Amino acid sequence: MPRSLAREQDILRRRPPKRPPRLTSRRIGIHTSSAGGVPNAAERAYRLGCNTFQIFSSSPRQWAPYALGELQCAEMNRLRAHYNLKPLVIHTNYLVNLASSNELFLEKSMAAFRGEVERALSLGAEYLVLHPGSFRGADREQGLLRTSAAIAASTQGLDLENAGLTILIENTAGAEFSLGGSFEQVAEVIDRLRGIVPTAACIDTCHTHVCGYDIVSEDGLYRTLTQLDETIGLNNVKVVHCNDAKAARGSKLDRHQHIGTGMIGQEPFRILLNDLRLAHAAFIAETPIDSPGDDRRNVDALKKLVQ
Ligand SMILES: [Zn+2]
Ligand SMILES: [Zn+2]
Repeated sequence: MPRSLAREQDILRRRPPKRPPRLTSRRIGIHTSSAGGVPNAAERAYRLGCNTFQIFSSSPRQWAPYALGELQCAEMNRLRAHYNLKPLVIHTNYLVNLASSNELFLEKSMAAFRGEVERALSLGAEYLVLHPGSFRGADREQGLLRTSAAIAASTQGLDLENAGLTILIENTAGAEFSLGGSFEQVAEVIDRLRGIVPTAACIDTCHTHVCGYDIVSEDGLYRTLTQLDETIGLNNVKVVHCNDAKAARGSKLDRHQHIGTGMIGQEPFRILLNDLRLAHAAFIAETPIDSPGDDRRNVDALKKLVQ
């Protein structure tokens, strides 16, 4: 993506803000590019007015991890402390499928996932977001079992608990064979890992909507929040991916849109951001960058909704 890369680098070329950006009582951020080295993402996030952010620690659609030496980890720590950027959320590479029924692919995924956890530990990240995977070739229940077992096996010997790292299972758009469309499926993986690996949830608004939950009408949103509380538990929702949706409710089409301009609209984000039961969560946009400045506009759109 050379065009978006050039734009990202522009943010760093601009002079840093004279006054610190206005912050809110909520943790609000955006998925941020690691171009030029992972620590650059922290500087970008700060300049975009974030107090939390999400990154990849490997290229999202290739197996190769990003270079991550001790110096880079130390620099990331320094910038995060200096700018009060917390939590750091890392999103696992999209190729990893811990539910794969192909043994070779499962092994490759487990090795890659272990690398993700090791890098998250080196970077001192609080959360590592994982899509629960695809159960193609098996049934859903076997898929959920396989994912849970693979998370446990690939983190063996790593002390996530002491390091303060939690794996977050993300709900998905629920298309075809993908696991995690319903809150129940996400809850099942978390339940299976209780006492084994620190595990909680990341809830994506776009995925929730296109999977069929009503989060657009006020009544529907509160009913959906009740369902979320009764399955996963709102206290276990550590990150909310704030994405508007291009596609209709129930379409299972995962196309993110700018906050307030899609099928979800602005009001549900206002309710989520101001619900005290979610005050502990980090709200992170994964919205498209169609034109320069879209990242800042989406962060601002969320910040403005906090009352
Ligand atoms: Zn997401
Ligand atoms: Zn998505």
